[in-house]
Amino acid sequence: MSKKCISSLTLEQLADLMKELGQPAFRAKQIFHWLHQKLAADFSAMTDQPKALLAALAEDWYVAAPAIQRRQQAKDGTVKYLLRLFDGNCIEAVVMRYHYGNTICVSTQVGCRMGCRFCASTQAGRARDLEAGEIAAEVYAAQRDIGERISHIVLMGIGEPLDNFDNVMAFLKLISHPEGLNIGMRSISLSTCGIVPQIDRLAQEKLQLTLSVSLHAPNNAMRSGMMPVNDAYPVEQVIAACWRYQKTTGRRVSFEYSMVRGVNDSRATALELAQLVRGMGAHVNLIPINPVDGSPYSATDAENVKRFQQWLTDLGVNATVRRRLGSDISAACGQLRREEAAKEAAT
Ligand code: SAH
Repeated sequence: MSKKCISSLTLEQLADLMKELGQPAFRAKQIFHWLHQKLAADFSAMTDQPKALLAALAEDWYVAAPAIQRRQQAKDGTVKYLLRLFDGNCIEAVVMRYHYGNTICVSTQVGCRMGCRFCASTQAGRARDLEAGEIAAEVYAAQRDIGERISHIVLMGIGEPLDNFDNVMAFLKLISHPEGLNIGMRSISLSTCGIVPQIDRLAQEKLQLTLSVSLHAPNNAMRSGMMPVNDAYPVEQVIAACWRYQKTTGRRVSFEYSMVRGVNDSRATALELAQLVRGMGAHVNLIPINPVDGSPYSATDAENVKRFQQWLTDLGVNATVRRRLGSDISAACGQLRREEAAKEAAT
């Protein structure tokens, strides 16, 4: 039997486990602290626990603590990690340094099945979902490594968070738990390619996080060309879901718009985009596409991105250009993992 991930258990589930093992109830909170506050990477670090209990736990359970397989640091302080999970699979996480604190971008799945044509993470499909504790362990591994508090989280790494809904919700509970790192929902952003029924489900959770929708194009012809998910959930349905989301949660949605030269960066497209999102009070984040191998796309140059931003602003849409951090390292998500897979295939 393979071991289960103890880092994924809620405090209540840990309490049940302690009961099962005939342990006093206070042990549950102590172990939760070790896992989620003191960031223990192993049972052996839990020095105030009875040896016999730790040995019993280690028989059936493991602590999620991915090994740092590769680490790249950019001149601006951005650190990119290739993390190896207990089963040998690799994922990526990136820490970015901002004036307001350290932000981590975490993966939510091993690979992705959404098929966006510009994205490296999806090229080999999805291997499996990450468990709640494994997603949290990305944050913990990075915090142990940089030796500084991580204050903000974006779910924008490998994977589609809303395609791993239950585990992502469980992760949010762990990471915002007062007995854990206690990272507030307002410091967390979740990015989705636009799975409409799951946006509605998320709205029902009424969380204070920021929902970010990867729009990338204002009409179906253009968006379906870039993102197959648009065939299932076309633009008008995505926008309608965003309106419902705003109404239910009282939180404004933001849009990501990756700019591809000659595809979605014309004046006519800016007009269409403005018409679509104006009135939502939404924020549009412009990102020059990061070209990946095997993709036909190239990036809109900086000057034209600025011009597009100005058009949107003039049309009453709040738009910013995302500052590019870590551009001197393999920045686009999913690239390190692909390099590693290619290396392993070659040996
Ligand atoms: N699956 C989620 C979150 C992960 S992708 C989503 O689709 O939103 C995070 C963001 O990076 C998305 O907006 C995605 O479209 C964008 N992205 C992916 N590959 C990119 C690339 N090569 N260049 C620029 N943006 C990219």
